[in-house]
Amino acid sequence: MKLPAAATDTAALDKLHGTSKVVLVPTMGSLHAGHLSLVRQARQLADADGAVVCVSIFVNPLQFGPTEDYDTYPHQLDADRQALASLADTCFAPPVTVLYPTAQEIFVTAPRLGGELCGQHRPGFFTGVLTVVLKLFQLVRPAVAIFGEKDWQQLVLVRQLVRQLHLPVTIVAMPTIREADGLACSSRNTLLNAANRDKAPLLHEQLVATAAAIARGEAVTGTCAAARDSLNQVGFAVDYLECRQASDLESWPGGATQFVVVGAARLGQVRLIDNEPGPPPAA
Ligand code: AMP
Repeated sequence: MKLPAAATDTAALDKLHGTSKVVLVPTMGSLHAGHLSLVRQARQLADADGAVVCVSIFVNPLQFGPTEDYDTYPHQLDADRQALASLADTCFAPPVTVLYPTAQEIFVTAPRLGGELCGQHRPGFFTGVLTVVLKLFQLVRPAVAIFGEKDWQQLVLVRQLVRQLHLPVTIVAMPTIREADGLACSSRNTLLNAANRDKAPLLHEQLVATAAAIARGEAVTGTCAAARDSLNQVGFAVDYLECRQASDLESWPGGATQFVVVGAARLGQVRLIDNEPGPPPAA
């Protein structure tokens, strides 16, 4: 079992540069099956191209609000490095002072979409995300970076970041990996108490039912409102549950354009997000 090289400072990344291309999987650690599917895809792409795989593990303080769970976010670096054995070449897990050596005064300001959906409930979140993603791209210099569709809004915004700032990196998206009962794998799932863990799959069930109803032609506003009500009635506190255009999360014009139903809801202190894409447009 070959553990990935541990890199905590930027000098340690120098070995990655120059000789081969890098495929990067950015994460906040506490790795689960969803992360590992991204890393396996990275390994496959890297092996086909003589590239190396770097997994970054960094819980980014800039994307957490003052009342959010930065202090309780799970950490398990040793177990993460074991999980990456034989899959990743380098595990870049810098301390905060490496990514933020001085107070951050320059930011990647998220566009309008960054203030909607998750951004409406987590002010500054996407500016924090885009700023750290740009830092990671600058430090690791990947040719390819892999992101999960579970965080659909993040994926859309990262694609915009790459396009608008002409970043020389290809973004690859991977589908959401779920537990056997349909709950999307998430590092935060371990923070659910037993009763809420039992309830948690209902979020995805409602997203699936909503996507199916919209695909059948039922009215979008009423269907989404009914889904929000059902979840609130069983103990979720729904932040949003909406149908948007899949490609860019603008409002869905209807018709054959692909949509995605996106949702976020809190169960106790734990915030869950998930989505369900509608049927792809007929070819
Ligand atoms: P995080 O550690 O939550 O920041 O996630 C790191 C990357 O893994 C992001 O690109 C996420 O979209 C992706 N990811 C998280 N959960 C899943 C999942 N259940 N299935 C697939 N990808 C995921």
